[in-house]
Amino acid sequence: MSREAKSSTPMTFGLLLGLCVCCNLQVARATAAHRTPFHAVTVLALPLQGSGLAVEQEPTPGPRITIAAVGDIQLGSGWPEERAVLPPGQAESMFRHVTERLRTADVTFGNLETVLADSGESTKCRRGSGNCYAFRAPTSYAATLRATGFNLLSVNNNHAADFGTFGLQATAVALDEAGILHSGPLGLASWETQSVTMAMLAFSTGDGPYRVQDIEAAQAAVREASRAHDLVLVSFHGGAEGPGATHVPKAPETAFGENRGDVYAFAHSLVDAGADLVLGHGPHVLRGMEIYRGRLIAYSLGNFAAWHGFNLRGPLGLSAILNVTLAPNGVVTAAEIHPVYLEAPGVPKPDPERRAVAIIRTLSREDFGDAVFDEDGKFDRSRRR
Ligand SMILES: [Zn+2]
Repeated sequence: MSREAKSSTPMTFGLLLGLCVCCNLQVARATAAHRTPFHAVTVLALPLQGSGLAVEQEPTPGPRITIAAVGDIQLGSGWPEERAVLPPGQAESMFRHVTERLRTADVTFGNLETVLADSGESTKCRRGSGNCYAFRAPTSYAATLRATGFNLLSVNNNHAADFGTFGLQATAVALDEAGILHSGPLGLASWETQSVTMAMLAFSTGDGPYRVQDIEAAQAAVREASRAHDLVLVSFHGGAEGPGATHVPKAPETAFGENRGDVYAFAHSLVDAGADLVLGHGPHVLRGMEIYRGRLIAYSLGNFAAWHGFNLRGPLGLSAILNVTLAPNGVVTAAEIHPVYLEAPGVPKPDPERRAVAIIRTLSREDFGDAVFDEDGKFDRSRRR
């Protein structure tokens, strides 16, 4: 319990929970039984504006919350049908080398860059277009994601609206039915684990709500969520893209002529507003991490899985599973990098060369003055003091 303001605004929490999707709660309870207790709701309402909260910098006693986080997940595409490229079966084979690592945390997070819908036309690309990418996979893949371990996904990114509002809603229904929490343009995710109330807000650089570029509105959303929850996690899809985008420039970035936000200012501002863990993705490469006011910021977790949808050359094919342990007030007490590489057409496998450790350590030191992790890829707060 980190937020003094929480107890002073119980009505806000009640209001948020009152708007939850009850069937989702039931499903999540049933399917998340191996992680107790994990009572899940996805709140279909934009948060209200609020005031700032003090950020504590010492871990409080109480249960430790474990989180496993990965970057972009692309599941192939069944559209257009004449050029469908989908993994066999229900896509189980995509995750078979990493499932063990993804099943053990209280919360397992990833950024889903594919619409889950069994029909529908892209609102972004024309059928014959050769250089426009719209990803749509069967709704049955949601169950595979859940069986792999994922129980929290961001659906706010530059592919979430490839099939318009229909695709957004179909994805939400598929994830609800599989018992996976999701956060995106339709609202934040809210749940409880080990008696700690948690929320995730997912931001992106598109035109919808929860925009990386609108830091003031993002802070207001985080403040409101912080009042109603012990821990607030933030996901963002932002920053430039590609092998040349491994550094965080601490300035606004662009990609393909689009404003992709100032992710450094964004992440710091949201921690100032009460965010407890910031998980970035979008550049398709790993970026550095830093600890700011006791909170861990991961600027880009890179590509994690794909089925022919991503370029995997060089740094684009290197990734990691990030394990984080948080005190109930959000201070990071431990973290670990589990390096992964993507084998064509995008299947994640543990990396025997453990390249992600050196990459993240170097980038963290160069961009933020601290490698954060030791040479084994571990961070332990108690050893640093
Ligand atoms: Zn993207």
